Amino acid sequence: MSYSIERVAVLGAGTMGAAIAAHVANAGLPVLLLDIPPRELTPKEEAKGLTLDHPAVRNRIARDGLARIAKLKPASFMSRRAKDLVEVGNFDDHLDRLAEVDWVVEAIVERLDIKRGLMERVDAVRRPGTLVTTNTSGLPISQIAEGRSDDFRRHFFGTHFFNPPRYMKLLEVIRGDEADPLAVEAMADFATHRLGKGVVFCKDTPNFIGNRILSVHGSYVIDHALAEGYRLEEVDALTGPLVGRPKTGTFRLQDLVGIDIAAGVAQNLHGLIPDDPHRDVLQGEHVAKVIGGLMERGRLGNKTGSGFYKKARDEKGKTVFLVLDPETFEYGPPEKVRFESVGALRKVGDLGERLRGFFDPQLDDDRAAGFVRAAVGHLLFYAATTASEIAYDLPSIDDAVRWGFAYEAGPFQLWDALGVAETADRLEALGFSVAPWVREMLDAGCPSFYQRTDGRVVGYYDWDSKAYKPLREQDGHIKVADLHIAGREVEGNASASLLDLGEGILLLEFHAKMNAIDGDMVALMNRAADLLDDDAWIGLVIGNDAPNFCVGANLMGVGQAAMTGDFDGIAEGCRELQLTLQRLRRHGKPVVAAVHGMALGGGAEIAMGADRIVAHSESYIGLVEVGVGLLPGGGGLMELVRRVITPSMGLKESDPLPAAQKALETVAMAKVSTSAEEAREMGFLTVHDRVVMHRDLLLSEACQEIFGMVADGYLPEAPAPLYAGGRDLLAAFKVAVWSLQQAGWASDHDALIAGKVGYVLAGGDASTPGHLPEEHFLRLERDAFVELVATEKTQARMKHMLETGKPLRN
Ligand code: NAD
Repeated sequence: MSYSIERVAVLGAGTMGAAIAAHVANAGLPVLLLDIPPRELTPKEEAKGLTLDHPAVRNRIARDGLARIAKLKPASFMSRRAKDLVEVGNFDDHLDRLAEVDWVVEAIVERLDIKRGLMERVDAVRRPGTLVTTNTSGLPISQIAEGRSDDFRRHFFGTHFFNPPRYMKLLEVIRGDEADPLAVEAMADFATHRLGKGVVFCKDTPNFIGNRILSVHGSYVIDHALAEGYRLEEVDALTGPLVGRPKTGTFRLQDLVGIDIAAGVAQNLHGLIPDDPHRDVLQGEHVAKVIGGLMERGRLGNKTGSGFYKKARDEKGKTVFLVLDPETFEYGPPEKVRFESVGALRKVGDLGERLRGFFDPQLDDDRAAGFVRAAVGHLLFYAATTASEIAYDLPSIDDAVRWGFAYEAGPFQLWDALGVAETADRLEALGFSVAPWVREMLDAGCPSFYQRTDGRVVGYYDWDSKAYKPLREQDGHIKVADLHIAGREVEGNASASLLDLGEGILLLEFHAKMNAIDGDMVALMNRAADLLDDDAWIGLVIGNDAPNFCVGANLMGVGQAAMTGDFDGIAEGCRELQLTLQRLRRHGKPVVAAVHGMALGGGAEIAMGADRIVAHSESYIGLVEVGVGLLPGGGGLMELVRRVITPSMGLKESDPLPAAQKALETVAMAKVSTSAEEAREMGFLTVHDRVVMHRDLLLSEACQEIFGMVADGYLPEAPAPLYAGGRDLLAAFKVAVWSLQQAGWASDHDALIAGKVGYVLAGGDASTPGHLPEEHFLRLERDAFVELVATEKTQARMKHMLETGKPLRN
């Protein structure tokens, strides 16, 4: 049987259920979100004279869950349209509608009896073949399905999302013994391509992979730290980005998750793994004392305002985080964390090299290095010890730790970087016994967990066959670093490279610091256009593997030119970027921008300059030049006229104002989209542009787009004149800018800039509206850009940004 997922129901509208529903809707699927009907009326409902039978009351829990998730920051929904795809209901009145859906995902309270009860009711109404999954954090999958029909059990398994589901890449899939492998595969495929998740298959063991390892590990770090007298802020400094972990470190993470939640997970887990000889650290003396003390005092972390840290204000009114004294349970100001060894190693860019520094015998007596060795050592030790019980292979463990907890590298990747054999000996010396299979691996002549050929990871050690096995790569994951290793660079300079993606597609990769645009990048864009003239190439993809697509122009150049009064040079720089982007857009071969992360200022202009955008769903696009006293000068304003204002004038008698006003606000308020779909609502993406949910598949999807465009007989868009509203629009803009000023949104200089933005968007001050060539708008853009650069206040803004990295309001 083949499975296709087009409609989804989510059972439970709590923290996870509502957020899962939101993310499924982000993928464009309609979702039915159900929860229990309330057993009591709220005072408001009573006041309105409603009864428990009223439909508005019966759906209240699901409706409130949806409303809560819609308000959450960072946003769970990627667009307004997504929110409209969620329909609410309740288990008593709407359960039969489960017959309409292809996938039912359960996310109700973590109680086996309650989950089982609901599953019995689901079994009675679902269509045969409907996939049913549970989001349980740790209940055995097989027990939830006990007593259900054969067809139900064949289509039932675990899908464990991490919170928040939109942002956390990990999805643990627990297939159990009875599920149809094809059903599980179909779900993994759907979760990867439509939901953008990183799927890790887990064995059906308590808390699966991520939470099993990190609950035990987290307890160890806390217990060890307190036993050895490390201060909380020291521990957080030593278990954050320094060792490739998130900024929240150890204790801040507990506050974020909630002390009660973390304690509950630890307590449950302890009971569920009686045979694990290392489980007792979950209830370690020091960890139990501090957690117990916090719970008694109702200090549950961020949600109650205090936990390991307490938010307070200093005498200047600035927010400060006071630190808990785990002995007295009093809070005091944090002390500066100063470790000489850390100061030196912090500067080492590569994580593996940094950690090797901490493991260097020269630092054997160093207090900070000692803690890092214990913390990292425990993770490696516990991951290896539990590995084959909880996971099918070792890459699954690394993926779960990276994707579920935002670690830069998983335990086996770290161990490889440290050197397996020598680190095994160090672990033993630290008192961590190394799992026998690791020694077996070394004895079998496999020196590392991952097998590398020419610097590329191609395999991993398989503990069953006791040999390397090829790594199963995500189909379609193109890694730019691998293209470099494979010698596929065609041309390159310090800021960018042109690479051969195969099948005639050229990739323009930016790799400058923060991917800020400089002369080298523009030069290579032009070289890309030259190369495209050759028959060898069918199209160009602009994309990269850095965290951000491109954060805009490198201000340094513009700033220096402004200081020396070289305004002609600045105008020339704008012209060059405009001409380059026009050249690529007018080229006879298709150009696709593969946008991800931030595409700001010039980065947004490069994206819009392409023939088509294929954007990762998490794309943050904006023309933010106002922040440094400028306006888009590389074609960005012309693009908004082309994408937003001109199309709104398709019909006779159309009113340009709503679209024009939207474009003005987007630029004057430096709005940045919070998702690719929102970028579409803002006009940066058009109906032809495509959104890709899985980041790793972006480049291959961009290639597919090129193939499609070529197959459709691609021809560059013929130059068409753009709508120029002239004086009428300008008058309306003036009012809009004036209201922004009155509302305190805009300073005088902001108003001056907004006025110039308006002037360009209106195509100047012609007395009658009409259509004018693109070139006209580009010229207005350049002129306005140079006029602004010449002002004192803009120069002050640029200087401030260059010096502090923050915008100046003046
Ligand atoms: P929650 O308490 O926020 O929501 C639970 C929902 O279950 C509520 O909407 C509630 O109305 C409903 N419910 C309560 N009693 C019920 C009953 N008798 N019958 C049916 N429904 C009932 O919980 P949550 O944090 O969203 O967790 C839901 C599931 O997801 C649990 O299995 C949990 O272990 C798992 N999970 C949670 C997280 C997390 O970070 N919160 C992460 C991964 C998995």
